[in-house]
Amino acid sequence: MNEIVQDLERIRSQFLSDLDALQTSKELEDLRIAYLGKKGMLTSVLKGMGKLSKEERPAVGKLANEVRELLNDRLDEVKQRLLDQELEKQLQSEVIDVTIPGIRPPRGAAHPIEQTIDLICRVFVGMGYTIAEGPEVELVANNFDRLNIPASHPSRDEGDTFYITDQVCLRTQTSPVQIRVLEKQEPPIRIVCPGKVYRPDTPDATHSPIFHQIEGLVVDRGVSMSDLVGTLKLFARELFGENTEIRLRPHHFPFTEPSCEVDVTCWKCGGKGCSTCKGEGFVEVLGAGMVHPKVLSGTGIDPEEFSGFAFGIGVERTAMARFNIDDIRNLYENNMRFLMQFK
Ligand SMILES: [Zn+2]
Repeated sequence: MNEIVQDLERIRSQFLSDLDALQTSKELEDLRIAYLGKKGMLTSVLKGMGKLSKEERPAVGKLANEVRELLNDRLDEVKQRLLDQELEKQLQSEVIDVTIPGIRPPRGAAHPIEQTIDLICRVFVGMGYTIAEGPEVELVANNFDRLNIPASHPSRDEGDTFYITDQVCLRTQTSPVQIRVLEKQEPPIRIVCPGKVYRPDTPDATHSPIFHQIEGLVVDRGVSMSDLVGTLKLFARELFGENTEIRLRPHHFPFTEPSCEVDVTCWKCGGKGCSTCKGEGFVEVLGAGMVHPKVLSGTGIDPEEFSGFAFGIGVERTAMARFNIDDIRNLYENNMRFLMQFK
């Protein structure tokens, strides 16, 4: 037995035991380099082949080839097995269990003002109304003149209206949407228009320079005051409960004739009288009336042929009533702890 044969035998048995200990494909690659790389164990033994005699060479060469083939074959075989195992492991560790509950992001909620607008609009949409919108920056003509509000009316003072120019202001009410709709649409008209309005009021418990109204307008042939009363009664019951009654008090608005303020049965005491209704049993919630003939004719609608009613609902006032909020400023301070109560 010459030295090379001994080396080859030793390499073969050491390789086989090294192979058994393999855990990963990375280790296998290291092993391949250690035996078969340029400076590998087998490679350096084979380099010594040149020193062999002619007689020794065929037998030792045969053994060397056998060992090299064995190494290559076993390495390929084990490599495939390790790769398969690793893939399987990866697939298991990365599996997504769709039955595990996800992480829920905190849920927001509609602001009490939005909730109130949605609720009121839903009641009217249920009666066949559509939602209309108008700009918050409005022509003075639409906000006042065309609503039959005379130049001398106190609401037109600089102290009561935000003017941008002589002819443009921030709307002080949602009523100018009536003008825009009457101008564009042929009767029958049945709309509600929710939106922001602006007045230079100093904020206190019941005033804010920005607040919300919902305007309602119906124009058709033969619309009468009794239609208005019936509509408002239905609205009041949807919003404040089945036993709610309404009470109309004569009032003056330039754009309606006749005009009234509308009270509903106090939601706190049910009409018996309490501090909320100041002992009256009723609380004022909106203004309404029959559309003034001048408003109709000013938009090209013949008041001899058509008539209509309009109403304006204060959203904040309604929200404060429904949610029992006693200071309007709470609605604008974005205090999450306050607002989340109304989720
Ligand atoms: Zn009351």
